[in-house]
Amino acid sequence: MRMSKMYLKTLREVPSEAEIPSHIWLLRAGMIRKLVSGVYGFMPLGRRVLNKIETIVREEMDSRGAQEILMSAIQPAELWQESGRWYAYGPEMWRLKDRNDRDFCLGPTHEEIFTDIVRNEVDSYRQLPLNLYQIQTKYRDEKRPRFGLMRSREFIMKDAYSFDRDWEGLDQSYQEMYDAYVRVFERCGLKFRAVEADTGAIGGSGSHEFCALSEYGESEIVYCDGCDMAATSERASCVDDPESSEPMEAIETVFTPGTKTIADVASYLKIPETKTIKALLFKVHDVEYKYVAAFLRGDRELNMTKLVNALNIPEHAIEFADEEEMGNETGAVGGFTGPVGLHDCKILVDSELVGARNLCAGACRVDHHMVNVNYQRDYTADIVTDLKQIKAGDPCPVCCEPVKIARGIEVGQVFKLGTKYSESMHAYYKDEKMLEHPIIMGCYGIGVTRTLAAIVEQHNDKDGIRWPMAVAPYHGIVTIVNTSDPVQVGLAETIYQGLKSAGIEVLLDDRDERPGVKFKDADLIGIPVRVTVGKQAANGIVEFKHRNWEKSEDRTADQAVAELIALVNEIR
Ligand code: ATP
Ligand code: MG
Repeated sequence: MRMSKMYLKTLREVPSEAEIPSHIWLLRAGMIRKLVSGVYGFMPLGRRVLNKIETIVREEMDSRGAQEILMSAIQPAELWQESGRWYAYGPEMWRLKDRNDRDFCLGPTHEEIFTDIVRNEVDSYRQLPLNLYQIQTKYRDEKRPRFGLMRSREFIMKDAYSFDRDWEGLDQSYQEMYDAYVRVFERCGLKFRAVEADTGAIGGSGSHEFCALSEYGESEIVYCDGCDMAATSERASCVDDPESSEPMEAIETVFTPGTKTIADVASYLKIPETKTIKALLFKVHDVEYKYVAAFLRGDRELNMTKLVNALNIPEHAIEFADEEEMGNETGAVGGFTGPVGLHDCKILVDSELVGARNLCAGACRVDHHMVNVNYQRDYTADIVTDLKQIKAGDPCPVCCEPVKIARGIEVGQVFKLGTKYSESMHAYYKDEKMLEHPIIMGCYGIGVTRTLAAIVEQHNDKDGIRWPMAVAPYHGIVTIVNTSDPVQVGLAETIYQGLKSAGIEVLLDDRDERPGVKFKDADLIGIPVRVTVGKQAANGIVEFKHRNWEKSEDRTADQAVAELIALVNEIR
């Protein structure tokens, strides 16, 4: 491609909306353009990178027997009502009506649609196992679209769905997809970790997230060097402190004026925060109870995922309670709520509190706390479970070594769905004896556009993007220093044609621009190799520079061509 003809507009300034490197560089390199918040278009270079990633995904999926289809983004509400997710999915779902007032959504994911296809067409065990996938546009009206392609409202996902006759079959399908994902992300040049994940709104029995390591990632990964435990922090279970051997003391109400926080009351009573109980109060929608109180040790943080999982409600059905309103109905008192005396509210207690002794909790009375509060003797719960958020240094749930925490970008996730959709939507097959069984399903997603952003996040420097060869929009760029010098132009053309005929994707920077501008653009758009044709062209000498090298090196034109071909062959 001749750059004089290419549709490319690079930006010198950092766009004000962009906060993180991938967003900044993708905009500056003219790869993407924003239409509205969370909605982006791809310009020629960006489209090429997307094609490369999609090709890698297709190759890895196809080689494991998955078959590509393409379903529509528009989905009828009826299918979601059948599975029960029309309500459960919440406000992220982009809902619309047709002219006859019939409900539809723009698909945030496609479990229902694939299940529907398969239930209508698969009847016998002979048609299983089956793995269907698509690379398609998804819509999620995210609460906080941000970071460009990272969390957008329209994005491209590869989603695959496996259909097996039994659980062993699912285990095998799952493992194949897991292996495919490892290869996809390796080929994309990502440093990543596969970690155990929560199954969230999709439901099911087992899951892993693939997280590209990055300080800007929104996923928190907990891992252990003592063993191979690795999980998202939403998922990681916590180890409770051992049961206390202290004898129970008599419970007492004490005057603690103005001590509305854990820190206040701990310092007022001169006790450690580990000797206090923290209350978190919520209002819930569309269930038979209205209020929820969660109690944890004062030094702990609540893990919201664990809370909604324990309640078996979607996250959008719960919000922090208005304390005054809740107080009238339950006896809660802002800043002084404790488990003793609270009524008409579902009470969840973190498992650690069961073995703790003589704690201090709010007395449900203004300016008062209770001391020597003990589980069972003084209060009980509707649910006792692990509600805590794990922190760096906490004991590993597997081997008890202190855990570490890293941040990652969730680029893919694999789920064992089991029979969640096949039961609710009646996707059954008949076995050899003509007996009916629900199909055992799995689902597997890769955020294709988010992967593109994650690659930039891991491969950039002060000058721009450094695309790994496998996903680069072009493998090389031949830069003519002076386009009015026929010798330089002639040699550059020869190199350009030579590379093209060897199947190398190459740009020719034949623009009438200063060399500095050309070099800056080549670095900004991240082309892996630059061949510069300048003053030494008359002697057949060019400069060869890998995007990762500090300095360029002299080569003969033939050597430069051969070296670039060899580099490209490494990824073929
Ligand atoms: P997140 O927790 O980041 O919201 P998710 O767990 O809801 O993502 P999945 O339903 O597992 O996402 O979707 C599969 C993949 O699609 C994710 O692993 C991610 O790479 C990608 N993805 C999800 N939401 C977005 C988004 N808003 N923008 C870009 N990619 C996304
Ligand atoms: Mg996910």
